[in-house]
Amino acid sequence: MKKIAVIGTGLSALSLAYHLPALDITFFEKSWRPGGRISTRKHNQYAFDHGAHYLKLDHGIIGLNEYLNKIDAIKILKGQFCPNISQNSPIEDKEIIVGKEGNESIPINIHKSLHYPTYFSKQITSIETINKEYYLMAGEEKFGPFDYIFCSMPFEQSKTLLEKYIDYSDMPDIEFDAIWTIMVAFNKRLGVPFQFGYHLTPEISFLMNQNFKHEFFNEECWVINMRAEWTKEYYNIENYVLEDYVINKMKQSFQSDAGAVFKKSHRWRYSYTKKSLRDIKSKRYIESIDRRLYSFGDWCEGPSMQDAWLSGKKLAQDFTENSLKH
Ligand SMILES: Cc1cc2nc3c(=O)[nH]c(=O)nc-3n(C[C@H](O)[C@H](O)[C@H](O)COP(=O)(O)OP(=O)(O)OC[C@H]3O[C@@H](n4cnc5c(N)ncnc54)[C@H](O)[C@@H]3O)c2cc1C
Repeated sequence: MKKIAVIGTGLSALSLAYHLPALDITFFEKSWRPGGRISTRKHNQYAFDHGAHYLKLDHGIIGLNEYLNKIDAIKILKGQFCPNISQNSPIEDKEIIVGKEGNESIPINIHKSLHYPTYFSKQITSIETINKEYYLMAGEEKFGPFDYIFCSMPFEQSKTLLEKYIDYSDMPDIEFDAIWTIMVAFNKRLGVPFQFGYHLTPEISFLMNQNFKHEFFNEECWVINMRAEWTKEYYNIENYVLEDYVINKMKQSFQSDAGAVFKKSHRWRYSYTKKSLRDIKSKRYIESIDRRLYSFGDWCEGPSMQDAWLSGKKLAQDFTENSLKH
């Protein structure tokens, strides 16, 4: 049986493995958990979905909801949504898909259902060839040989691993926005008339209440995303300065004297793809000439979870058709 290595366990990698026929697949993941940019931070009794917030109900991917329901990964929530808070736009009811116990349920349950061996906390540092065989290196450790290697991380990271084997000279860099996210628990209700919305202030692009997603906490928990342009300007801001700044903005905006009993922030270097590979090059993934090394991820299709899923699915279909059948 062909031996396959998949680097990463984000949604695109999980989708690839799900859509391939049963094969000898091994995952390599630099983090201690699956999911990549779908991440639920748990602190004491609090839980914050501080990466992807939700999957759109109208994502348009046939069969995805049925599968995620079957593995008990999701629930549908109805929340009050404000499309433009600073312009007082009317609040709407909006249905969204979220993980059953935090968004991390989505990758965790998919990963569990696949039953493929996984090396966690294993950062792949290079790909080596010996006698036309491919090996993965994690520092001094060597894994392989593999017949095929699939890299599912953001464009820049996979380019670093693959540029020895793939000619990137006519390939434009696929750019991502960086985003600062702040997690806060307030000791009192802020009295916000919606659960999620866009454009609170010129710096804050999105905020989402966590209490309606997770089990009830006494404190009111929020995840707040800074605007990409602001993140670029304040990329190296100290965490505590950022956190205090955002807490004050929240209190001013909602005229509250609540205190923050918990605060944490995280800078996502790669958050949203600005322009996808499909848009720029009409390609759905990148492959080596010998068709044994592949690079894919949300950035091939667009900026969202459904794009990550689609990317893995499309590559699995083409690979099954072109490489496994011949
Ligand atoms: C703050 C934020 C908010 C978002 N909000 C939403 C939202 O509300 N709705 C939505 O649909 N989408 C949202 N997104 C986008 C969504 O999270 C991504 O599109 C999707 O999760 C990307 O999946 P992926 O598998 O392509 O990449 P990733 O999730 O980045 O997966 C790549 C994986 O590769 C691993 N990896 C990287 N390098 C190595 C290495 N050298 N060795 C081993 N492993 C490695 C990483 O640890 C990671 O697990 C958001 C993203 C962010 C950051």
